Amino acid sequence: MRPTDTGVDAVSGALLNRHVNVVKKKMGTDGLQRFFDEVNKDRPRSKMIDSSSINEKEWYPFQLLLDFYDAESEVLVGDPKTKRRKLEHEIAQDLGVLKFFVKWVGSPAMLAEKAHERWRLLHKYGQLDVDNMGDTSGTLVLRDYFIDERFCYSMEGFLEGLIGVTKKDVKVHQTKCTAKGDDVCEFVLEWKN
Ligand SMILES: [Zn+2]
Repeated sequence: MRPTDTGVDAVSGALLNRHVNVVKKKMGTDGLQRFFDEVNKDRPRSKMIDSSSINEKEWYPFQLLLDFYDAESEVLVGDPKTKRRKLEHEIAQDLGVLKFFVKWVGSPAMLAEKAHERWRLLHKYGQLDVDNMGDTSGTLVLRDYFIDERFCYSMEGFLEGLIGVTKKDVKVHQTKCTAKGDDVCEFVLEWKN
């Protein structure tokens, strides 16, 4: 069943922390402060958060991730859609030690499988499945998740970044979206060998 209340705990602290890290990396400590000022602007004092209040192993409301998206749009410079995509790109490529390994042996099929696994670690609801995988293209389908355009747009950038670890000229576009009335969100991935 698809969750509808964006207040339910749905995203992991680990995912939120990735956003915090990338904002800090790009905008420095001052930028991070402005980011949290934005996140907290409509929160009562007792509910205000900062980087120390996010626990990697806990779940947080989907709404908080949406607030993060909006704060990023305020703090980072440039066109909102372009910067969102770039940011997700970096989040996806922040694979730590895995990156070295993946660069040498990772195929898009393996990375898509990884996206499926990673989904389960970072999200309490929804399912990201590999629908088909070819030599230069593939399809991922996201089921039973919140309906939100901002989220889907971020997913495009994320998947582009992930496949971009090993392949060049990666293009990801959404061919179906629940925000447009489809029953699932479908992402078509294309790359050059
Ligand atoms: Zn969608």
